[in-house]
Amino acid sequence: MNHLHLSSFATERDLRLAIIEAGRLCYDNGLMHGNNGNISMRLGNDRVVITPSKLCKGRLEPDDLMIIDMEGMILKADSTRNLKYSSEAPIHLEVYRQRPNIRAVIHAHPENATALTIAGVPFPINVLPDVMEEIGPVPTTRFALPTPVDNAEAIREYVKDHNAILIRNHGAICYGVDLEEALNCMELVESVARTLVTAHLVGKVHPLPEEVMTALRALYEQKRY
Ligand SMILES: [Zn+2]
Repeated sequence: MNHLHLSSFATERDLRLAIIEAGRLCYDNGLMHGNNGNISMRLGNDRVVITPSKLCKGRLEPDDLMIIDMEGMILKADSTRNLKYSSEAPIHLEVYRQRPNIRAVIHAHPENATALTIAGVPFPINVLPDVMEEIGPVPTTRFALPTPVDNAEAIREYVKDHNAILIRNHGAICYGVDLEEALNCMELVESVARTLVTAHLVGKVHPLPEEVMTALRALYEQKRY
């Protein structure tokens, strides 16, 4: 069964299974390495099921996950384990607070997308039609210190108008109405970045013509409103 389409009104147990499945896919596809990255889903309207820090997201068990409220207070976690609240959880909460329709958030450190931010190269919207067709422009934030407050502040101004955000010298955050949409977004961001890096390696990068970009922008605006 594909759990990734589940809504936040599925049972807590099913949401835990959905997050475990997404974690395995992110890890197996090289979007998350070691213990990095985090995944969450809304539970009802005012709680969030989220991965803790310091655990590999490719090898999670249902009881590894914790339930927090919208202020980041831990409401439920396995008391027999030393599970730690992630300093990156406020990134997820910032998205849920600003975007009531968003039900799933993934933060990862995909290599090529992150490499663009390290090199100071903006995420390209004009080399492949998929970007404007699927997710729209992807901004890059300033560098954020690895603290709960700075992580949330760095993305704050971009959340409302974007579906994917890159954090400078750090990684990516993608979200959607369910985990399927959030994961597809993360995979697309990394795939476009990898294609651009490869194009740079093999020759000159030719952007899409301006008239094509005008048409793609118009399609994107139609879809948004
Ligand atoms: Zn991170």
